[in-house]
Amino acid sequence: MVYFTQDKEFAQEVLNKAEAYYVQIASDLGYPRYSAFWTWEHRVKIYIYPDRQTYQKVSNQPGWSEGMADYRNKRIISYAHGEGFLDTLLPHEMAHLIFRDFVGFKGEVATWLDEGVAQWAEPLKRERVKVVSQYLLKNGRFFSVADVVNLDIRKVSGNNRVAIHSIRDQDGKRTLLSLNGKEVVDIFYVEAVSLVGFLIAHYGADSFTEFCRQLRDGKSLEEALSFAYSTRISSVEDLESEWLRYLRSEN
Ligand SMILES: [Zn+2]
Repeated sequence: MVYFTQDKEFAQEVLNKAEAYYVQIASDLGYPRYSAFWTWEHRVKIYIYPDRQTYQKVSNQPGWSEGMADYRNKRIISYAHGEGFLDTLLPHEMAHLIFRDFVGFKGEVATWLDEGVAQWAEPLKRERVKVVSQYLLKNGRFFSVADVVNLDIRKVSGNNRVAIHSIRDQDGKRTLLSLNGKEVVDIFYVEAVSLVGFLIAHYGADSFTEFCRQLRDGKSLEEALSFAYSTRISSVEDLESEWLRYLRSEN
């Protein structure tokens, strides 16, 4: 359901796109059979305010915020800002909501997984993630998967230096990178979507669903990986090496 006060045409476009994203995200997450999940009183509500100022006043969000997903009330709140809304914010926030709802997470979802799934729903990011990953890989800027899954991104801020381990290079060695907070956040987001994209695109949606269900049921990351990807991955180290093999396999 889309709530708006102005620009009916834009609201209609939001509605059409939202329906299409819903189908795509549900199938990416391995839930095509439950596509009735969000019908009737379970429908998500999308609030479009006429401008940024009104949005920020109503939502009480910080100045940089373009929109937000409210899990508890299943709402997406933003303002009419054209392409950025339709192509980026809408699929991203919908994916956050669908992911929690479908998988049935009760508590916290690991940030890398949550942000990875949300970005994978953005058509432009999905298209570019492999190329961007390969660029970072070539420049020795990628963080070890162990550091990515344990990083509390909320504690990383702008200019503070952060020490973080690199991935294993071709000789199997790691180096200690020292970057500023902003770079760490940017690379973290790329790796998050790169890892999720790798798991979904390379092994399929069913295994990914199984992996998420294991996590939801309280299994550790390694247990969930072994369960869903037993033939190839049974540890965070394996996840890193399989993912790197995938990235290095094509140009
Ligand atoms: Zn997000």
